Amino acid sequence: MGKVYLVGAGPGAPDLLTLRAAKLLGVADVVFFDALVHPDTVALAVNARKVAVGKRAGQLSPDQRFINRALVEAGLRHDSIVVRLKGGDPMLFGRAQEEIDALTSAGIEVEVVPGVTAALGAAASLATSLTRRGVSRSIAFATPRVGRGETAGEWADAVAASDTAILYMAAGEAEAVRAALIGRGIASTTPVVLVENATLPNERQIRGTLADLPALVDQRVAGPAIVCIGRVFAGADAPEVSAAAAAARGV
Ligand code: SAH
Repeated sequence: MGKVYLVGAGPGAPDLLTLRAAKLLGVADVVFFDALVHPDTVALAVNARKVAVGKRAGQLSPDQRFINRALVEAGLRHDSIVVRLKGGDPMLFGRAQEEIDALTSAGIEVEVVPGVTAALGAAASLATSLTRRGVSRSIAFATPRVGRGETAGEWADAVAASDTAILYMAAGEAEAVRAALIGRGIASTTPVVLVENATLPNERQIRGTLADLPALVDQRVAGPAIVCIGRVFAGADAPEVSAAAAAARGV
């Protein structure tokens, strides 16, 4: 029986891949890859059969059950090394648990290789610490996106309870996101940065406040985007950051 590796491809730039991931791709027999994975990363799998199982919002794409079945079939094949390559980190907003559960219940061994998630790729590009001293001691990674058959959940409460928030898959729901967060008492003047195509040459950083969120989203081109919210994004000299930092120092 083979083994299936769930591998994080990183946020966008192909050289943000771990060495472990690169080595595995080099020996893989089959690679199932997502739409957001860079073609240069897929190309590292020189000897593998490469199967696109990408899901992009609004486009026809393979059903998750189909992907689970394809992974199990590949994993049952004697001696094969199967790589399931996912954008960012596999364990964040990537349906990893469904794939892991399908594989383990078929008796197939699974190993996960982490990757740099989009939020951390964006923080690097912005040169902004998500845990800036005196300003942020907590971060929420959240999504307003609700899958079929799921209840809405309390993502907005989690964001309101955190100093800094990074929202995945949120750009299509800007109005609702703004309303939910302002409704939870988050100031409409809170700094927001939309980062599109984080870590890629065509990356764009669009800055504003929570009140502007729908207008920021309208400036997007076409790439994946995350919404970064919190006072850390005001920039080093912004009065709100220096005031908070001073208060934290007790001055
Ligand atoms: N597992 C991935 C997230 C998959 S969900 C990770 O850890 O990054 C897909 C969402 O991730 C997109 O809708 C977008 O919000 C975000 N995303 C992925 N790549 C991105 C990039 N290069 N720039 C900005 N956002 C990105």
